Amino acid sequence: MSRELKAKSAVLTGARKPIEIWTRDVPLPGPGCINIKVLRAGVCGTDPHLWNGDFEFKQAVVLGHEGLGRVIELGEGVTTDHAGQPIAVGDVVYWNPMRPCNACFDCTVTEDFTACIHGRFWSPAKGEHVWASYTEVATLLLNNSFYKVDPEVPLDAYIALGCALPTMLQAVENLGGITWGSNVVVQGAGPVGLAAIMLASLAGAENIVCIEGNESRLKRALDFGATILVDFQKEEFKTKDSRAAYIATTVGARGINLVIECSGNASAFEEGINLLCRSGQYLLVGTWAGASNVTLSPFQIVQNALKIVGSVYASPAQYYRATKLVGQVWKRFPLVECVTHKYKLRDAQKALEDVGAGKEVKAVICPQDAEGWN
Ligand SMILES: [Zn+2]
Ligand SMILES: [Zn+2]
Repeated sequence: MSRELKAKSAVLTGARKPIEIWTRDVPLPGPGCINIKVLRAGVCGTDPHLWNGDFEFKQAVVLGHEGLGRVIELGEGVTTDHAGQPIAVGDVVYWNPMRPCNACFDCTVTEDFTACIHGRFWSPAKGEHVWASYTEVATLLLNNSFYKVDPEVPLDAYIALGCALPTMLQAVENLGGITWGSNVVVQGAGPVGLAAIMLASLAGAENIVCIEGNESRLKRALDFGATILVDFQKEEFKTKDSRAAYIATTVGARGINLVIECSGNASAFEEGINLLCRSGQYLLVGTWAGASNVTLSPFQIVQNALKIVGSVYASPAQYYRATKLVGQVWKRFPLVECVTHKYKLRDAQKALEDVGAGKEVKAVICPQDAEGWN
């Protein structure tokens, strides 16, 4: 069987070069693979960094590691998604773009898929297949785990937190869970911080303190379950000491059990670690890139029996769990409202610039002009 199917992609050809729109032929999906029309491609805060040249690509690439798409073609043997749920043409899936190879030490021995040395969340633009999301049609290959979403739930609810939700689910799993009744501080209220606040709220944290310097982000943090807001732009909270004193009086003598770093700012570390009570835990997620060093006292960690846990990316399992979680809680948390800006595929450049300028809560590219804006 053959047929002609062409698709446009937004292509990054080099650091800070204008994003180009390329058209390619879409092959039929191979055995076990599927073709999908991309309905939503989330613009992650990482994407403008990649466009800016923070990572050197050796070839032209298609970005986009957050996506939802409608199945248009099923490869031979595909009757279910990767969780065993029946799948058919017309269903919408959420997929893991990280593609663990299932053939390296970490994939097969440690089973830490986030460490796979072959995991890449972009596609070569000249390759036969594009599995990244800045495209009209993506081909999900054998190692792109995909999961059917509930047609009753708005697409925007799934894409709202983008990679931040699977990432935070992974981080909380690495931590060993959030204890019921604990006092939690979340540093930063971008998508990663909102995911942290939502999970802390669902885990039954008693107090959830959000430290952030952007008023509209703080407002959203409140909507996601933060109980105490600390705006460090305000005169009374300009210093670390003033913030710590306020948190201590508000939360009470038991102190802070868990701090989750979601600001991406290395200097937040020194503040966060000093907020912890004895046996406190520090979960570091936000500082994905950077080379800053901070001062750390081993004495403090030993004397206070602190635990520091880092986490990066998410295993395929967390993409599945993210779909299930969103299906359960999308009415309770303002996920849909998080999607503040939508762009056509040809405006991908503008989307990257806007996100890079820190304007958005959540920017989403909608590659289908004819459908799927609402
Ligand atoms: Zn991301
Ligand atoms: Zn691997």
